[in-house]
Amino acid sequence: MHSVKVFLLVLLSALLTAPLSAQVQSVGVAGDGEFTRITITSETPIRPDIFLRETEDGMIIEMVPNDFRLTHQPFFAEPTGGIFAYTLDTDRIVFELDRPMMIMREIDLPPSGNERLYRYILDLSGVSETRFRTAAQRDEKRFARFEADRSSSAMPAPVQVADIAPQPESPSTKPASFGALMQMAARQRKVIVIDPGHGGRDPGALAIIGGKESDVVLKTSLKLKRMIEQDPRYLVKLTRETDIYVEHEDRVTMARNWGADLFISVHADAAGAPTVSGASVYTISTRGEARIDGTAKKYGWELPFEDGTSEEVSDILQDLTVRETKSNSSIFAEFLVPELGQAGPLLRNTHRQKNLFVLLAPDVPAVLVEIGFLTNTSDARRLKSERGRRKSAEAIKRAIDAYFDRQDLLLATN
Ligand SMILES: [Zn+2]
Repeated sequence: MHSVKVFLLVLLSALLTAPLSAQVQSVGVAGDGEFTRITITSETPIRPDIFLRETEDGMIIEMVPNDFRLTHQPFFAEPTGGIFAYTLDTDRIVFELDRPMMIMREIDLPPSGNERLYRYILDLSGVSETRFRTAAQRDEKRFARFEADRSSSAMPAPVQVADIAPQPESPSTKPASFGALMQMAARQRKVIVIDPGHGGRDPGALAIIGGKESDVVLKTSLKLKRMIEQDPRYLVKLTRETDIYVEHEDRVTMARNWGADLFISVHADAAGAPTVSGASVYTISTRGEARIDGTAKKYGWELPFEDGTSEEVSDILQDLTVRETKSNSSIFAEFLVPELGQAGPLLRNTHRQKNLFVLLAPDVPAVLVEIGFLTNTSDARRLKSERGRRKSAEAIKRAIDAYFDRQDLLLATN
């Protein structure tokens, strides 16, 4: 009981002394400048005022969260497309833009499920300089008024106990450490399974400049794995990490046994004509879909229905699952295509359907990505280079983020 008393004491003293301010836990930026997303997590809602501004230093987005305070160093992802830097001040966050962008939408998500933090999401999209300038001029007046109001009402607000949301999950009044954040994220980690195509006795396509598909896709997959591992939101598994042959059905079985939330098979293409180049993404075709049930039965990929579920009901549930899985696979493919376009050329009709065995799991959204043509000199050089590998991996990682961000949004709004 002693510890409970101590805890209450700590909590009470915290109520009396702690400022009721938004503790920013992380800042993340993802996207390419055509579409860029800022995500800020915090322990209390940040409800910021936002201003597009054109200053001597260039175009910026200045965000002044309601009673924002930084008492520790939050962690943030490296800035990417559209935003080249950002700084956290004592009472605001400034994002420096490398191209004109405007706010498309603003989303405020309360904690839900395992997500203990508030998430504030700002979606930006690329616009012309003229449009940015018009908006910035309008915001400049608003900004001046805002700053004037703030300095005149700089009196500290009285502490009202009723304002303090109960936080049963965070008895410690210290800001969450990075370790604690990692632990929190680990509880709801998404499992990503990367499947480097071919291997061992099956080299896959041969590169026009020398080398084989099985090596190229393994190196890219390992790079992607390391990239995903940096992100506490995910757990990543590879169906092979060395040059070995793995049966197709074993690749799918592994993914299902690991509880995969997403399966990405990585391949490189070959064509008769050396001029054909570009990346493409495959999801299951209608013909492939027709053999899911039979294949699932044969390899024991049945869905975990409760005992006593009638055959009719389980058939319906199975159908629904297969349909939802197919739809999620397509959604991921649609996120992936524009990202791959940032990493290199795209094959025409980039999102295609095919009857591919590794895409047959009834309940794991799956795509097969062909990262380029090894029979095309320029693609082959790109795929075999360190820089090209990094770009392909980054593209896939951004699509993974976009896909799961969307899922989080759907969960939060339902
Ligand atoms: Zn292949």
